[in-house]
Amino acid sequence: MAIDELLGDPRDAGNPLSFDAVLAADERQEMLADGERLLDDHGFNAEFVPTRLGGRFDRADRVAAELRAVWRRDPCLGLGYGFSSFISGMNIWTAGDDEQQRHAAKLLLNNGKIAAAFHELDHGNDFAHAGFAARPDGGGWLLSGRKEVVTNLRRADALVLFARTSSAAGSRGHSQFLVETAGLPVESVRHGSRLRSSGMRGVQLGQAEFADCAVPSCALLGELGQGMEIALRAYQVTRAVFPAISVGPLDTALRLAVEFALERRLYGGTAADIPYVQATLARSFADLLAVDAFSAVALRALHLLPAEMGICAPAAKYLTSRIVLDAFEDLRSVLGAQAYLREGRYGMFQKLHRDIAPATFAHVSRTACQVMLLPQLPRLARRSWLDDAAADEAVFAVDGPLPPLNLDRLTAGMTRTDSVIASLAERTADATPIGRFVAKFQGALRLLRAECADLRPSDITMDARPAAFALADRYTVVLAAAAALGVWGERPDTALLGVLDRLDGRLGGAGVLLPAERAHVQRHLFDEAVRRVRDNRLLDLSARRIPG
Ligand SMILES: Cc1cc2nc3c(=O)[nH]c(=O)nc-3n(C[C@H](O)[C@H](O)[C@H](O)COP(=O)(O)OP(=O)(O)OC[C@H]3O[C@@H](n4cnc5c(N)ncnc54)[C@H](O)[C@@H]3O)c2cc1C
Repeated sequence: MAIDELLGDPRDAGNPLSFDAVLAADERQEMLADGERLLDDHGFNAEFVPTRLGGRFDRADRVAAELRAVWRRDPCLGLGYGFSSFISGMNIWTAGDDEQQRHAAKLLLNNGKIAAAFHELDHGNDFAHAGFAARPDGGGWLLSGRKEVVTNLRRADALVLFARTSSAAGSRGHSQFLVETAGLPVESVRHGSRLRSSGMRGVQLGQAEFADCAVPSCALLGELGQGMEIALRAYQVTRAVFPAISVGPLDTALRLAVEFALERRLYGGTAADIPYVQATLARSFADLLAVDAFSAVALRALHLLPAEMGICAPAAKYLTSRIVLDAFEDLRSVLGAQAYLREGRYGMFQKLHRDIAPATFAHVSRTACQVMLLPQLPRLARRSWLDDAAADEAVFAVDGPLPPLNLDRLTAGMTRTDSVIASLAERTADATPIGRFVAKFQGALRLLRAECADLRPSDITMDARPAAFALADRYTVVLAAAAALGVWGERPDTALLGVLDRLDGRLGGAGVLLPAERAHVQRHLFDEAVRRVRDNRLLDLSARRIPG
């Protein structure tokens, strides 16, 4: 059965996975037990296990779609049941030996959980200074230090741990370890209290202190000193998958806002009759489609342009998280007080709003993404943009066939070509509204090229000037526009105009659309959103029907 059918009608009071049940679990700060049971019965973890190891994972877009469906209902379930094990799994499938991979696959296929213990409050995104250490001891290793704010740390069956294994400076000072929690000496791991959070309240965020915790030599994941490289490669997948997942909560939030606007009576009509409300809903719908198109291209690029993921993944994670959070903020203004209440027909909105907030900082912050982009921009500007061959049509063919994902083709090094953005150069800049957008984004790319080519060495590090960070920001917007133009391809429609208008708004300057054109586009998007909500169809690119 498809995951949507399994989750059932969210408004059915008899459904153990209804919005009411999800909200009640959130109030208790618990994972939705019925949800975990249902996903166990469905063997959901198989989505994270490669097909060669008995699972169903060989396409990034498939795992993203399955996770998106769960996040659409309950992000706590999505992270606490799913995404956290997926993140751990990606490190194991990237670097584990046969025995480690088989073992991890078996554990997941038996409904187990694997936590990814990377984070330490003292170091945050700064992995290079992570203090948790592993030192050789006899044939094995002794682990010492703290891990904090880690999903499922206490209840996971196994952990992927990121640990310093050399005091030398440089990128080879850390390694990864895969350990089973049942085998850890209890006296050397002290779990602290669960960390409470404003969102994701059902997720168990743990912290623990390891003190000379002995683990066997076979716990080393990949080669000694490869910890950072493994993470950089594995996280190209997870950081490309997350933007696609984040469309799920936004879909539900927009649906709630449309329902509310249609139902709420005031001034002798409904809120949906108010032009400003219509425009806000239309803009959020365009934002959702922009995120979906950009993330769909990033997911396909994992298979088709793996050498470009060093730029595509951080760009997607950076921009989409901001768009999603901004859209939530806009929708909040439509729902008014109902966006604030923790109960009632729209109580889900505030939960989703709180749950989605970590998108901008967890699993790499937006600033850290910019810092990953900056050193790559000057070279791409000088040698790639406007010169490289455009990406093949297949990169934009959402739902089209894909070769199985080959993790060996993902590299931790700098990206040398940028064919997605190069596709922009091939678009026709004529006098049609789409053509005018093409001209605007091509102009933005030319300007970016000149400015990025001139970046000073000090501007491609963390100490870069704000102006350099702004270039990285503009780059992601132009890349997203290239992705959207590619996804709509030869069939541009009014929705694409809405998407490009929203992206253009992030570049600033004079808008491309005339006021009357924008009003027409927004009316179209508003009508389409209402139609889809009434038909129980998704608001994403698939427009698929869902139970309700
Ligand atoms: C719900 C939730 C679940 C989580 N689950 C896990 C998990 O399972 N495993 C795990 O390991 N961690 C997990 N985390 C932790 C999460 O990954 C961290 O929050 C994240 O790594 C960011 O660290 P930080 O928030 O401490 O930010 P910091 O890195 O301390 O950032 C502080 C500030 O510095 C800026 N900054 C950081 N790096 C740079 C840079 N390179 N250049 C410029 N500016 C920078 C940031 O933008 C920010 O403004 C989870 C967090 C949450 C909220």
